[in-house]
Amino acid sequence: MPIPQTLIDSIAGVKGFNQEAFVAVHEGGEQVTSVRFNPLKTAQPAGLPLADKVPWSSQGYYLTERPAFIFDPRIHAGVYYVQEASSMFLEQALTQSIDCSKPLRVLDCCAAPGGKTTLLQSLISAGSLLVSNEVIKTRAAILEENCIKWGASNIIVTNTDPATLGRLEHFFDVIVVDAPCSGSGLFRREPEAIQEWSEQNVQLCHQRQQRILADIVPALKPGGMLIYSTCSYSREEDEDIADWLMDSFEFDSLPLHTDPHWGIVEVQSDRHKAFGYRFFPDQVKGEGFFISCFRRQEGHTATVKPPKRSLLQKLSKNDTAIVQPWLQTAIPVQLWKQKDMLFAFPAALEKDLLTIVDNLYVKQAGTALGKIAGNDLVPDHALALSTLVNEAIVAVSLKKDEAIQYLRKEEVTIPTMPRGWTLVQYEGHNLGWIKVLPNRINNYYPANWRILKAYN
Ligand code: SAM
Repeated sequence: MPIPQTLIDSIAGVKGFNQEAFVAVHEGGEQVTSVRFNPLKTAQPAGLPLADKVPWSSQGYYLTERPAFIFDPRIHAGVYYVQEASSMFLEQALTQSIDCSKPLRVLDCCAAPGGKTTLLQSLISAGSLLVSNEVIKTRAAILEENCIKWGASNIIVTNTDPATLGRLEHFFDVIVVDAPCSGSGLFRREPEAIQEWSEQNVQLCHQRQQRILADIVPALKPGGMLIYSTCSYSREEDEDIADWLMDSFEFDSLPLHTDPHWGIVEVQSDRHKAFGYRFFPDQVKGEGFFISCFRRQEGHTATVKPPKRSLLQKLSKNDTAIVQPWLQTAIPVQLWKQKDMLFAFPAALEKDLLTIVDNLYVKQAGTALGKIAGNDLVPDHALALSTLVNEAIVAVSLKKDEAIQYLRKEEVTIPTMPRGWTLVQYEGHNLGWIKVLPNRINNYYPANWRILKAYN
């Protein structure tokens, strides 16, 4: 399906737009595939058909071809994330605008399926808080899954609307709004989406983007950073939103440095000359994208106080003694209990945790550890995938076919193993738990995550 003429006409005057090259690159249909490695899980990117690095990313690589990712056990272990290359430019927006070595409170407001969240987590310090929110319930479940696979303990996944988040007045140092949009930037990758594009939808998206931003800006600290992005080419969703933000709030626009070889076009909005960065697929090795950074002007800062009483309890000495052998001791975490579920969260972020739990609907905070049954822990899947799990726990290494059987939640056969809870690994990366019983092995891979697609 051809690119709509109305879209072409509406962006014809945008700086850097080259109609002929733009149409040709969509007709050519080249597929660009890129992945970003998880520094928590691997120091040495390998095992994929790697081509060049994505130049604006420290952990992103292009691939020479698109493998069947679903059948690579390492993706289920959170070793890497398949992410469109232009989106990885968020790294530049963040690192050029704020000191990431400091402890920060970061909010990813529209976060599912988790591409920007996992990127943000890799960039901020271990003492920083990342609240990753998705308003749509089913999408929040996918976000939670991807965060668990990533394995960090400083993420809180929430499922709420931006207006509720906005009640955390001046709480965050950084807010990322990767806004729902008309999606024209992905037309090369998803040509079937072209038929859903309309000028009317662009207008609806523009209004929704304003609503989300108006709701969320109160949660940004004076002096804090707002990073706004879309995968739309339409000015109504990009430069016009930048102008509206500058009209409506006390923001300064921030220019970013880009290397001319990257092919990214710096633009400025009509009225306030706010800086934006446009990615055209005929000029960058990536899909269509727009990003713009704003600093909220300094001023009086409100403080959200943690609640005096919380639904969360610190773990008793008894329960701590049961859990401790499962954990690495080097990482300073506080152990918590909510109802019967235990979880770990960075000790230094205790007040932040209590504040978030008190104000928002939390799907997952930190690393779920499991439940206590008698004098034992029934370990949670998240513990297996986290950096907290004790490396001394018995583990079994599976070959690829066996690992896929495990990920399909089928029966796993291992000749001789000590009884009890055992980690299942593939190429040194944890995939989950099995329990070895006298006469069988139970597969504890989460049923709703299992691979359903036929493998041959
Ligand atoms: N940041 C994600 C990533 O990098 O993987 C992609 C986010 S996608 C562009 C926009 C998200 O906004 C979607 O997950 C969508 O469900 C969510 N969304 C839709 N309507 C929304 C609304 N009214 N308020 C907040 N988020 C909304």
